Amino acid sequence: MDGPSGTGKSSVSRRLATRLEARYLDTGAMYRVATLRVLRSGVDLSDPAAIAVTVKELPLTIGTDPSREVILLDGEDVSSEIRGNAVTKAVSAVSAVPEVREQLVALQREIAVSAGRIVVEGRDIGTVVLTEADVKIYLTASAEARAARRNAQNIAEGRGDDFEAVLADVQRRDNLDSTRAVSPLRPAEDAVLVDTSDLNMDEVIDELYRVVAEQISAGGAQ
Ligand code: C5P
Repeated sequence: MDGPSGTGKSSVSRRLATRLEARYLDTGAMYRVATLRVLRSGVDLSDPAAIAVTVKELPLTIGTDPSREVILLDGEDVSSEIRGNAVTKAVSAVSAVPEVREQLVALQREIAVSAGRIVVEGRDIGTVVLTEADVKIYLTASAEARAARRNAQNIAEGRGDDFEAVLADVQRRDNLDSTRAVSPLRPAEDAVLVDTSDLNMDEVIDELYRVVAEQISAGGAQ
């Protein structure tokens, strides 16, 4: 499951995994943990070589149970800290470093292969990480719809109300993620595109479940 931020991808992927009785992997969380490590070590974000060294042998633990989030850095629960502004602002710089991607992609493949049936969400899962996946979905939504969702989430979680700033941040991250040299964000050629702009969560889940069933029966997979 790939797509830009704010399409509802995380909640949707988690719920879809539960419905499919599958495991779930949030690869964005892995890049966020790497970023937290970089921020804590005080490394200059414009120095890719220093970032690569800091992230090497990252002591990361990530769970795959869709009903229970486990994200540890060196044994410490960082699941909420990695969603904060500091990490969100810095994550594009860290995830653009080739050594960081190589290392995390290897770990993602390892987790996916040992899990069996799994929903893996990110930006490059269909194009790079799991090119042989039985089903590839690319979730899209207009930048405005995505910013409106993120802003509503900010309001609900007490982080203030500033639609214009959120929209600017969504556009900035889209641009960084889709123009970077390594693994730019784009749909795989064989991905099914699902636009969530005008759908609520239940409608998206129903649509995705239908797509998965259809693709699996067409491909003859189990
Ligand atoms: O999905 P989430 O917003 O948590 O991802 C955070 C960031 O991690 C993205 O903006 C992107 O820079 C990076 N990312 C990536 N490749 C992935 C997943 C996330 O580069 N597979």
